[in-house]
Amino acid sequence: MRHTHITISQTALAHNLDIIKRHTPHASIMAMVKANAYGHGVAHCLPALMQADAFGVASFDEALAVHEICGQLSKRIILIEGVFSQDEWLVAQTHGFECVVHCQAQLDWALSHVPPMDSPTRTIWLKYNTGMNRLGLGRDDVLTCAKLLHDKGYRLILASHLACADDKDHPANALQIKQFDDVLTTLKSLYGDVQGSLCNSAGIINFPHAHHDWVRAGIALYGASPVADSSADDLGLSPVMNFTAQIFATHELPIGEQVGYGGLWRTDKPTRIGVLSVGYGDGYPRVVTDAKVSIVKDTQTYLAPIVGRVAMDMMMIDITGLPVGVGDTVMLWGDDLPADNVAHWANTISYELFCKTTNRPHRGVVA
Ligand SMILES: *Cc1c(COP(=O)(O)O)cnc(C)c1O
Repeated sequence: MRHTHITISQTALAHNLDIIKRHTPHASIMAMVKANAYGHGVAHCLPALMQADAFGVASFDEALAVHEICGQLSKRIILIEGVFSQDEWLVAQTHGFECVVHCQAQLDWALSHVPPMDSPTRTIWLKYNTGMNRLGLGRDDVLTCAKLLHDKGYRLILASHLACADDKDHPANALQIKQFDDVLTTLKSLYGDVQGSLCNSAGIINFPHAHHDWVRAGIALYGASPVADSSADDLGLSPVMNFTAQIFATHELPIGEQVGYGGLWRTDKPTRIGVLSVGYGDGYPRVVTDAKVSIVKDTQTYLAPIVGRVAMDMMMIDITGLPVGVGDTVMLWGDDLPADNVAHWANTISYELFCKTTNRPHRGVVA
């Protein structure tokens, strides 16, 4: 068997949810499980997230998958981009999904097909564009929509999204938070019990005064850092995904030999090369700079540099002088090597690394 594994720790996931709860004792928590739980596998993750108050997904298919797994537990499921057609709006009602309304078409469907009073779909997450300029209605349209929806008997949750929450001192944050507070206060004074939801993981950490009724936790659940100035470890978050492979061949090379496609890397000393059973076909990024893997051997942890180009199925590491060889396990990211470090070497973010892991690694779960 080719030894390439992605193992999900449910303990770590539940622990991270606890950490988030400690940051926000009063707000309800929407656990973001879109994109197959950020590539972790929604079926493996949901059992560890049952203490969350709701699940957030991006598409109808994702909502159905979560619905199926939750079975009789009837968890709240929120479509964070709303529905994409009137048909979806009607089917959302039959399943009790809650929807964002961010545009005129969605508003029209909601106004012309009102679900029964006791339907969860009777709650609308009204999206207010406070400055990210991605989804949502401007201030005046939000106030108009809120009135129309309220008059039809909808319960309202005002939602918006911070563009720069990872950078606490970015001036956009204060502006967005203020605009959100103003409209929420207005809606509350007009219609009573309107709720608010503004913060993602970074907002949860950086803006405790802006949590309102609902926070939407994503990357922090999966154990990567959402903020620029603290590591996941600093925040007490544990990696949920352990991505490992195996050294399955080694070579002793003299000085001046090339390694891998394009011959881009050359030995500048007698070098021992280890070949790993993992490549971009498994989801390791093809382009990395000064990247390393972690190898634990006899309680010692070694960091071995990746050399030459990452290929589809394999990559090479420099193991000169290390007491390791064929059969040893290496970690691409996880407990011994934060995904945030690999993301830095790949000039991306941990979110993308997780989402791009493929179905080829053997996937498993540990309690
Ligand atoms: C994905 C998403 C989140 C979660 O963001 P993280 O940075 O992963 O915590 C929150 N809100 C919305 C609208 C999202 O799309």
